[in-house]
Amino acid sequence: MPATDLNKSGWEQSDFPVLCETCLGDNPFVRMSKQEFGRSCGTCARPFTVFRWNPGSGSRYKTTVICQTCAKIKNVCQTCLLDLEYGLPTQIRDTALGFVNEAPTSDINREYYAQNMEGKLEGNKSGLDIGKAQSAGKEMLKQLARTDPYYKRNRPKICTFFVKGECNRGAECPYRHEKPVDNELAHQNIQDRYHGRNDPVARKILTNHAESQGLKPPEDQTITSLFLSSLSPNSTELSIRTRVLQSLTSVEPAQLKSVVHVAKSRCAFINFKEREICEQAAQAWANGLDIDGERVTVKWGRSKPSNSAKATPAASPVTVGA
Ligand SMILES: [Zn+2]
Ligand SMILES: [Zn+2]
Ligand SMILES: [Zn+2]
Repeated sequence: MPATDLNKSGWEQSDFPVLCETCLGDNPFVRMSKQEFGRSCGTCARPFTVFRWNPGSGSRYKTTVICQTCAKIKNVCQTCLLDLEYGLPTQIRDTALGFVNEAPTSDINREYYAQNMEGKLEGNKSGLDIGKAQSAGKEMLKQLARTDPYYKRNRPKICTFFVKGECNRGAECPYRHEKPVDNELAHQNIQDRYHGRNDPVARKILTNHAESQGLKPPEDQTITSLFLSSLSPNSTELSIRTRVLQSLTSVEPAQLKSVVHVAKSRCAFINFKEREICEQAAQAWANGLDIDGERVTVKWGRSKPSNSAKATPAASPVTVGA
């Protein structure tokens, strides 16, 4: 390496970007301009090779916003940050598959981490090990996936002058003359989308999907339990607890109040401390949960009968939802 390049050690160079079909566009002869160390990566901050291209007529120019290493770590597109296999926000994928977010979110470590991962990811290998994921989660992703390219996403941006009633370029204007719909995506930042947190779009999709699977959250906010049925005869309280925590990577063990296993009826109550966490679990398990080789059915628990002075424990099988 020439002496003048020493400062650049750890910066990223690449020959072709990692892109989803939509961002690449429908033009088979797409021409890309390439700028080495053109800007710093939106997630790890290292300078990287930036690509810019037009994905097809009537589209806006697109550009890569995160480096290739960061894209591979999360198996996402360098431009839209959606998962490459399912075309979904990372928050949905990671919720369904129970992936741990290993990429550091603090400014101090993220550059070092990306640099370190670069050596570990050979070729186009992704940093995710989908093989270990539970099959109910994969099934959920298949239902939610966008499989065809969605070129509408490549349209020009809405003209800000038009919105203010000030654009006089008429048909010549390269931007869209439309009223903006309040799009929650506009309020998101790259870091959140990449790490799959606080993603309003993902939350909405997960909420709708859980409801469509019969897991609409009950109105009674005191209900913080989920009921699992058709468990394997081999399941134990420990195996259930272990699997539950493994599949809910954002949940701390302390947020799980108790696991009550009723071996005789092959069912269990998963009691959470907070309603919010319980709702997240219901979304993650909308297609069921694989425990000890069985696909377990998940339902919301029911309200406790309020007339009982002796206070039926929350985990009593009497409170089971239908
Ligand atoms: Zn990066
Ligand atoms: Zn993309
Ligand atoms: Zn305009």
